[in-house]
Amino acid sequence: MVQPAGQPYEYQRRPLTEPDWTRFPGWRDVTAAQWESAQWQRVNCVKNVKQLRAVLGDLVDERFYTDLETDQQRLATMSMLLPPQMVNTMVPDRVPDTESFYADPIRRYMLPVATDRHLDWPSHPHATRDSLHEHDMWVAEGLTHRYPTKVLAELLSTCPQYCGHCTRMDLVGNSTPTVDKLRLTLKPVDRYSAHLDYLRAHPGVRDVVVSGGDVANVPWKQLEAYLMGLLSVPTVRDIRLATKALMGLPQHWLQDDVVEGLHRVAITASRRGVNLAVHTHVNHVNSLTPLVARAAQTLLEVGVRDVRNQGVLMRGVNATTGDLLDLCFALQGEAGILPYYFYMCDMIPNAEHWRVPVWHAQQLQHDMMGYLPGYATPRIVCDVPFVGKRWVHMLTDYDREHGISYWTKNYRTSIEKDDTEALSKQYAYYDPIDTLPESGQDWWRKQQAEA
Ligand code: SF4
Repeated sequence: MVQPAGQPYEYQRRPLTEPDWTRFPGWRDVTAAQWESAQWQRVNCVKNVKQLRAVLGDLVDERFYTDLETDQQRLATMSMLLPPQMVNTMVPDRVPDTESFYADPIRRYMLPVATDRHLDWPSHPHATRDSLHEHDMWVAEGLTHRYPTKVLAELLSTCPQYCGHCTRMDLVGNSTPTVDKLRLTLKPVDRYSAHLDYLRAHPGVRDVVVSGGDVANVPWKQLEAYLMGLLSVPTVRDIRLATKALMGLPQHWLQDDVVEGLHRVAITASRRGVNLAVHTHVNHVNSLTPLVARAAQTLLEVGVRDVRNQGVLMRGVNATTGDLLDLCFALQGEAGILPYYFYMCDMIPNAEHWRVPVWHAQQLQHDMMGYLPGYATPRIVCDVPFVGKRWVHMLTDYDREHGISYWTKNYRTSIEKDDTEALSKQYAYYDPIDTLPESGQDWWRKQQAEA
């Protein structure tokens, strides 16, 4: 008898579960009330190896802690900061040991260790700190004007959690031994009013991504005043709040003052016909717990029009069709969060082990089609320096041997107002060198030697 061939991906509904935090020696006596308190979560964040030891005890051996310390000292572009909520999603279904902790997808990007990185090519030769040139495009402190009708407002430079692959590693977080961070210098009130002045003077800008850092670190009263300020500018029609904390610290978005305040903002937005949405950043299905779903549902209940996910595609974390579809089905079907984008990991220093080549991203996009509802099928995008987001199939040329793809664009950024060639040029993006054929890797070695 001929066996049915089956589907490449088999959907199966899986309810979300909150992993048991008492499996960690350091949290054996933590109560549910403590766990659900945003304050408890913030006070008990893991910020260094000593604090991680206090949580894990001897579940993992010395090899891991040494590996982590080496990374922090020599390679990390982000300092360590993990709310217990995020640690608890590592090895969620059992008591971790060294091997399972090493292999865990959340650990791989939130607690990177030196042996994760590539020794030959830890960074691509074209990797840069501000790889998207957001700082170069500031029109006021923290306000990036890259696309014609949209701006990115960086309200602050901190987050409740620091991700190893952060694209804003230039600005966000504490300095590390390898990266001295850029600093915001204006007082928040002056920075915010400069943003509003710019928006009033530029009525063609209709869409504001309010980010950071993470807006969950802006004291609520300040954030509400900023959002109400945006809503007083009649030409602003879309506001998107960026917060990974919806997943990393859902307790924040469930606090009474935040929920009530967001309700006031949502009602004002709705009366003025402004689309208010929240964008979060979930990279793996294990991060989605009932508490995250409750926080997302609460945002929708108070009147936020949509909650969307923008994940980052990373090797060792989620760069398989099964990982991406598992995450998207859980977002869409269990948490009320729209799977919206997956970004290719940007060309920042020491990120080569996470980055995937463009051809691989194209294959993943191909293989994801047809399973999710069309409107909930995420686009995988490449954020090409000086160009902006492009769907991964939109390249105009691709040199697979050297891993160089070429892209064009259809608008000028704020630093190209007088550049008559900006729209006819081709812009390059580079695949990680270890994914190239041997001849391509040799070519890059020679380039490096001659540089
Ligand atoms: S939450 Fe976002 S801005 Fe903050 S460290 Fe992570 S990726 Fe960077």
